Formats: sequence, structure tokens, C-alpha cells
Amino acid sequence: MATLLVDERDQLFILDEMLEIDSLCRFPKFAEHSASEIHMVLTEAHKFAKSELYPTNEEADRTGCIYDPETRAVKFPDCLREPYEKFREGGWLAISDSPAVGGFGFPMTVATAVSEVFYAGSFYLYGAAELSHAAAKVIEKYGTDEQKATYMTRLFSGEWMGTMCITESDAGSDVGAIRTSAKPNGDGTYLISGTKIFISAGEQDLTENIVHMVLARVVGDPPGTRGLSLFIVPKYLVDEKGKTTRRNDVFCMGIEHKMGLHGLATCTLVYGDSGQCTGYLLGELGKGIEEMFHMMNEQRLLVGLEGLSCSSSAFLHAVDYTMQRLQGASVYPSTSKKTGSVAIINHPDVKRMLLTMKAYVEGGRALAYFTSYCLDYAGVTEGEENARWHGLVDLLIPIVKAYLTNNAWDITGMAIQCAGGYGYCSEYPFERLARDCKITAIFEGTNGIQSIDLVFRKLIRNRLVSFRHLMSRIDQTIKSANGNKHLGSYAGTVKEAKDGLEKTMEQFVKWAEGERALFLYAKASPFLEVMGDVVLGWLHLWQLTVAYPKLMEFIANKTPEAAQDILRENKTGAFYYGKVLSAKYYIGTILKRTVGKLEELKADAAPVLDVFDESFTG
Ligand SMILES: Cc1cc2nc3c(=O)[nH]c(=O)nc-3n(C[C@H](O)[C@H](O)[C@H](O)COP(=O)(O)OP(=O)(O)OC[C@H]3O[C@@H](n4cnc5c(N)ncnc54)[C@H](O)[C@@H]3O)c2cc1C
Repeated sequence: MATLLVDERDQLFILDEMLEIDSLCRFPKFAEHSASEIHMVLTEAHKFAKSELYPTNEEADRTGCIYDPETRAVKFPDCLREPYEKFREGGWLAISDSPAVGGFGFPMTVATAVSEVFYAGSFYLYGAAELSHAAAKVIEKYGTDEQKATYMTRLFSGEWMGTMCITESDAGSDVGAIRTSAKPNGDGTYLISGTKIFISAGEQDLTENIVHMVLARVVGDPPGTRGLSLFIVPKYLVDEKGKTTRRNDVFCMGIEHKMGLHGLATCTLVYGDSGQCTGYLLGELGKGIEEMFHMMNEQRLLVGLEGLSCSSSAFLHAVDYTMQRLQGASVYPSTSKKTGSVAIINHPDVKRMLLTMKAYVEGGRALAYFTSYCLDYAGVTEGEENARWHGLVDLLIPIVKAYLTNNAWDITGMAIQCAGGYGYCSEYPFERLARDCKITAIFEGTNGIQSIDLVFRKLIRNRLVSFRHLMSRIDQTIKSANGNKHLGSYAGTVKEAKDGLEKTMEQFVKWAEGERALFLYAKASPFLEVMGDVVLGWLHLWQLTVAYPKLMEFIANKTPEAAQDILRENKTGAFYYGKVLSAKYYIGTILKRTVGKLEELKADAAPVLDVFDESFTG
């Protein structure tokens, strides 16, 4: 197996054969790039992740980050130091950003493929580093020239690291409850005061300076999210020449001891304990939440990728493990007469688990890359077409975030199951991946909040405009699959699930307008799951229409035995065979369950809505 992180061949299939990424290179924005250059970048990312990032995981997980209460400093695992420097020198953070800010100008789709590889390499290091990119993007969009000159380029290059400071003890999902305050100093700066909790990489020793992006309320501004503004709060203040000067009054008061993500500190930060924390307003007063959404949207896509990368790595490790582990005799008639144990990958129940993981990983990858591809098209088109691409991005982001991260927990769990008792032990990476991935369903807006956002904002408030556009794209793929007589039944199953989703949507709209609007709150999460299932069904059908004819080039008119012999000898043929089977398995088996889930969505929500505190227990 080429790698245990991300299947590069599958990435190339999605980029080249499914999305035809080189079609983006015809737009002036990407004209300097070519498919071969994109392949080169991806290959380099794999090399870096395999040689520099992946070897650090065990130690980083075991040692974790260490807080020193004397100095209020946080020490990241030593093994991450050198890889971070090399990562920074490689300019990896800004590969899809404009050369004007030190980037390479590649399409976002390419950056997404690279991010998947890096997250799989080290969730800890890349998870911390990516926050700098998100901070740089907000400053690029809303910052003054001075703020851009002082912070943005250094964040894009990774010289300094950024953070996203939203959460407080009483303001988790309820962002409007934020109490951190900002008082004007009279010279354009603000005095920041308050405590943020759970801040990823809020304190670290990998970079000289840290640039905190802090949501706070200017004294006297209205309550709720409307009254929030966004501030740049550097750990060290910076003079006109760009040199760091005074230590700002923002200190780490402790780090969390958590289930996973040990190599990435989660910090409590206190601002203005000595009344001297300086902050600089970014953008407009009272527009903080809108501006932060810019950072959060990017982060939500990336958190989906974090989940996907854990799934991908768990799956590939499971394939590797099950090829080595010998247990039990084969049940296949052709081999059962041979004595001795076989590798467990030969047992149908193990194959079932592996194929399930493969189908979810490959479908999830197609979903994440397609969403980035929409972002790329939104960056090069105009007018109505542009609005359609943006609409698709808005609609798909909560699904990428929540669906891929919910699945990550199931898939890493299934990988543990594949490896049996060894899967449960820390000698193998399975249990670490399960521990690490769980947070992705929680941070960056819990998956429950993502589902509510999908149903109320992205669907109903949008009057289903983007939903209908997505459905029409699905129809086109169904039509194209129906053109191949061997794929018709798969097209039929996707159509059935898609029609069911549309009917449910009509039902939701009726509920939203009537007395049953509360049903939607109770059913938002299962709805997101069903919509994720249908979207994955569509993406698998799309992949099937591409992979099936290519597979046939190898095995058309061959007997099943001859076909098996050919495919076992031919890597490319075997890849298409695996691709076709995962699509067929997803649509023909997994998507069948969605029909039942659609029934669940029609059901009465009264039990959920009517149950109250005392009735949960005896
Ligand atoms: C390891 C880690 C890293 C983090 N990194 C950062 C960071 O860098 N920056 C940052 O600002 N924050 C960070 N967070 C915080 C994270 O974003 C929050 O934990 C998350 O937003 C949920 O808030 P909460 O923990 O207060 O849960 P709560 O808001 O208390 O939610 C608990 C449960 O109630 C549900 N719930 C709450 N409100 C509603 C509602 N209105 N409707 C329906 N269901 C609801 C939630 O979906 C969830 O299931 C991090 C957290 C962790 C653990």
C-alpha cells in the first residue's frame, strides 16, 4: 500500500477524472497552473506528511502539551518543532492564496486535497497551523492596510500563529452571550477584558507571536450577537517597523485535560487581568459575528476534512492490519480446502466493514472536494452563475462539517473493530484516531447547531433556491447514469432517495409555516444525516459513471474468473474495480437504509418535544 494516510490514487481520480480540475485552469485566475503541477504538489504533500508529520503522532499524543503555571507558558511536544519549521519554510499554508500575499494561487480544491493529507499526517500540527490561515483571511478581507502589513503576511507564512477566540464559560453554542468587553482607549485602540475558554493553540511555543482574533462587546453595545465586534489581540504588541515590543496582557491560565488531541493545547485565556490588554478593532463595530463567520466558514470546511482525514487514515490502517493478521479458515469454497488460517481481510464480515469504510471515505472525499470546487467556481464567475455556486457552498458547508465528522466517529470505531483487541490498544493508531476525531463533531459549532443552520437558514430562509439547484444537478447525473444500461438500477435507487428527500423537504416547509414548526428543531439532525446520505449517493453515482466504462476497458467480455485474474495483475484495473464496488455497495446497500430514515423523518416528533426533565428518570 502506497500510504496509510490518504489514498493518493483516489484523490487523483476525484480531481482529474471526476471534477476535471484542469478545466479550472482555463480561467485567468488559475491559468498559470496545470494538472501536472497539481499532481506534483499533491505528491510533495504526501512525501512531507509521511516523512515529517506522521512519525510524530505517537509521541505527541503520549507527551501532550504541558502548562507551566509559573510562567503561564505552554510547551508543545518537542517532536512537532522541527516539522513545523519545515512546514512553514515550504510555504504550505498559503498554497491557494494570491501571490500578492505570498501564496501560490492554486485552486481551493487542490488546497483541500493537500489539507486532507496534512491533517492525516498530523491533526495536532496542521490543526494549529490552519488557524493562522483562517485569521489571515479575515484580516485580508476586513483589515486596514496597516493591519495587513503588520499581521496578515506573517500569518499566511506561518511565522506567527493565529487563534479564534469565541467560547466563554457561559457562551458555548450561545455566542450572543459573550461577556468579554472592549473599552475605547480614545486613541483608536481598545482595552480588552474577559476570559475565553477552550482556545486551540491559545498559547504555544512554536512561534514568537500569537495573533488572537477575539469576539468582544464594546461597552454599551447591545446584547446578543448584534453587539459583538472583532478585535486583533496580539500576544506581543508590534511597533511601526514590525518588531515585537511589549508583552500584551493576555495570559494562559491553564489547559484542558481531554479525551484526544493531546498534541494541540486547548487553553483558557484571560485578557486584561492587569487592566492592560490592548486590542485593535478589525472591520466595523458591531459586525464581529459576520466577520467571524468568514473565519468560521473556512474552519467548518476544514473541520469536515479533519473528520475525513481521521476516517481515511483509520480505514487504510485497517486494510493494512487485516492483510497481516491471520485468523480462521476461509469460508470461500475455492480456498476452504486449503489448511491453515487466512488473513482476516478474507472473511466476508471483515470485508463488509472495510468496504463500508471505503465507501464513506471516498464519498466524503468527493463531497469535500466538490464543495471546494464550488468555492473555486464562485471565485471566477459572475452574476447568476456566481450566486448559484455560492449557494451550493452555503448549502453544503454544514453537511461537510457535520456529516463527515459524525461518520468519522463511526468509521474509526469500525476500524477498531476490524483490528479486534489490538484495535483497542495504544500499540496501534486506531484508538488514538477515534479519540482525536470525536472533537470534530463538537467544535466549530456542534453538529446539532450545524443541522439547525442547514434546515432553517440554508434551506427554509433560502426558499429552497440552492436546494433545488442541487437537486437538478443530481437529476443530471441520474440521467447520465441511465444512459448506461448496466447502471440504471443504481440511478433508480439514487432517484428514489432523492425524491424522498424532496418530499420530506416539502413536509418540512409545511411544518415550518404551521403549528408544527417545533418539529423541525427535533428533526434537524436526522434530516442532515439523510441529506448527507443522498448527496453521497449522488456523488457515488457520478463516480460510477466515470469509473465503470474505464473498468470495462479491462474486463469487457471476460468471464468472471478471467476478469479476476486480469485485475489482480493490473493496479489501475484493480483501482477502478474497487471504485465501482464501493459506489455499488454504497448505493445498493447503504443508501437503501436511507429510505427507512426518510420514514423516520415523517414520524411524529411529539415524544421528543413533550418529554420533560423529570420524565427521563425514575
Ligand atoms: C478541544 C477543543 C477545542 C476548541 N477550540 C476552540 C477554539 O479554538 N476557539 C473557540 O472559540 N472555541 C473552541 N472550542 C469550543 C467549542 O467550539 C465549543 O465547545 C462548542 O461550540 C460547544 O459549546 P459548549 O461546549 O459550551 O457546548 P454547549 O453549547 O453547552 O452544547 C452542549 C450540547 O447542547 C446542544 N445545544 C446547545 N445549544 C443548543 C441550541 N440552541 N439548540 C440545540 N442544541 C443546542 C449542543 O448541540 C450540544 O449537543 C473548543 C472546544 C474543545 C473541546
